Amino acid sequence: MGSKSPETEHPVKALGYAARDTSGVLSPINFSRRETGDEDVRFKVLYCGVCHSDLHSVRNEWHNAKYPMIPGHEIVGVVTEVGSKVKKVKVGDKVGVGCMVGCCHSCDQCGADQEQYCPKMVQTYNDSSMVTYGGYSDHMVANEHFIVTWPKDYPLDGGAPLLCAGITVYSPIRYYGLDKPGMHVGVVGLGGLGHVAVKFLKALGVKVTVISTSPEKKEEAINTFGADSFLVSRDQAQMQSGVGSMDGIIDTVSADHPLVPLIALLKPNGKLVLVGGPTKPYELPAFPLLFGRKMVGGSLIGGIKETQEMIEFAAKHNITAAIELIPIEYINTAMERLAKTDVRYRFVIDIGNTLKAA
Ligand SMILES: [Zn+2]
Ligand SMILES: [Zn+2]
Repeated sequence: MGSKSPETEHPVKALGYAARDTSGVLSPINFSRRETGDEDVRFKVLYCGVCHSDLHSVRNEWHNAKYPMIPGHEIVGVVTEVGSKVKKVKVGDKVGVGCMVGCCHSCDQCGADQEQYCPKMVQTYNDSSMVTYGGYSDHMVANEHFIVTWPKDYPLDGGAPLLCAGITVYSPIRYYGLDKPGMHVGVVGLGGLGHVAVKFLKALGVKVTVISTSPEKKEEAINTFGADSFLVSRDQAQMQSGVGSMDGIIDTVSADHPLVPLIALLKPNGKLVLVGGPTKPYELPAFPLLFGRKMVGGSLIGGIKETQEMIEFAAKHNITAAIELIPIEYINTAMERLAKTDVRYRFVIDIGNTLKAA
């Protein structure tokens, strides 16, 4: 049993882009993937979104990095092979894989279609319990349970980011009941998550106010994404004008920021839902919650069933992410720009046309 290298541990050759250390710099790697098992779907990767968590992960900012790391969990492509027991898809079908590729299938959470909260959930890359490699690669293989079937005529490139960014905002909008026509919901941050949240909420008939530190995003929030109004979070007078007006808020911001001014925007019984992950703890005093029976909650992606529902809802309402399509060779520059938030919404890598063996 000699030592196993990424290139030889499995029988099927694969090509990807990997980070080798905490510099996070990505470069080509020859690795390997398992053979197509009875319940597995193998697909050629065509596009992969660049999630902010890819950046945190490759640079070990969450202190759990395993190298070499091949990131990517917004993966779409075309099926090339299916196992004998696969029912969901056939060769030639368009499919996607998001943030998860495994779970126990027997706990309460799995039984409730909330695999994302299964204690044995397996992440698409950099999993803590086993070696997994993500979508910055020429192909993927995954159990069919974790395969999302792609709606007919729905764009692969603009749709890819919804496999993480989309479900991350869609699931809490549904779970916390912020999906009723006529409600007023705030969206904090107009980045990769926020602009998709605005589109979902508008499709549901909800009145949307974007709350952002960047006044220059107002025009696009309203005219491009259809938000009803815009508050600059650093402008006291503007924030004051929104006090007590919102049924809920989806807070997508990953940078450190105060919650109390957001809680003030809620009506009584209002819900502030956190989907971003700042590394520093929030400051959360009790009284702003007590006065008005307000609630602060969290949410992590969504289950596979709900992800399928989300992608079909998106297709039906023509909702895609605003993307900047990049060749794989551009990924390190893209990561630098992402670190500076110098990106309009979402990078998507054109894997199918640009990832080639040297
Ligand atoms: Zn993600
Ligand atoms: Zn489970």
